[in-house]
Amino acid sequence: MATAKKPTARRRSPKPEPAKCPDCDGTGETTETVRVGPRKGRATDDHQTVLCLTCLGTGDDTTD
Ligand SMILES: [Zn+2]
Repeated sequence: MATAKKPTARRRSPKPEPAKCPDCDGTGETTETVRVGPRKGRATDDHQTVLCLTCLGTGDDTTD
């Protein structure tokens, strides 16, 4: 009498959802205030879209 071996169940999540970057909310871009003058002293009313430095434009949470 043969006993069937049960396959070892491995706990593994099938597809982990990619976490969104908390800084740009997954867009890969952030908006920052344009500053003028030496040492970025004065902030202007202008804003510019820049590459998110946290995820480097990927939009993924790379903090973990
Ligand atoms: Zn980001």
